[in-house]
Amino acid sequence: MKIVCIGRNYAAHAKELNNPVPKEPVIFLKPDTALLPKRMPFFYPSFSNDVHYEAELVIKIDRVGKNISEKFAHKYYSEISVGVDFTARDLQEKYKEKGLPWERAKAFDGSAPVGKFVSKLNYADLSNLNFVLSVNGEQRQVGNTSDMLFSIDAIIAYVSQFFTLKIGDLIFTGTPEGVGPIAIGDYLEATIEGEKVFELKIK
Ligand code: MG
Repeated sequence: MKIVCIGRNYAAHAKELNNPVPKEPVIFLKPDTALLPKRMPFFYPSFSNDVHYEAELVIKIDRVGKNISEKFAHKYYSEISVGVDFTARDLQEKYKEKGLPWERAKAFDGSAPVGKFVSKLNYADLSNLNFVLSVNGEQRQVGNTSDMLFSIDAIIAYVSQFFTLKIGDLIFTGTPEGVGPIAIGDYLEATIEGEKVFELKIK
């Protein structure tokens, strides 16, 4: 399986990192080794001093598709969750400056923990969904999918032009504003519409 991530999908987040608002989705991939086994903590990597959390709504693909039209994209997933796109911001800044690929900053082991998947049928409107990330009990990111520059279905349509989507693939749909550093000992928790779907300890 593969993990497809969308960058800069919320205008306010693009702005907080001094990035332009994109005209088409920014895409990068993470390998399956970026997932964390259930109940495993995240071990702060030795190669970075500035790992940031980016809480994102995650879609699980459950049907194979290529060149999917936006109109039919909703047939390709039935479960959603929240995941964290961990980013070694210090490495990312260095690579961005040089125009080099981001993988070491974004795709390292454990950089894509995902919470419990829940049926999308639990929610009346996926294009108006609240999700919240708290660190040590304090709210840090409050996102609503209505602020996405590219909707879930638009992302699936766009991504599937380049990559065949397969059963079990995950799509991280971008982070809202409020990203920030983690520290050893932190406890992260995320909710969708008030229901806890994600928790993680940093060690
Ligand atoms: Mg991200």
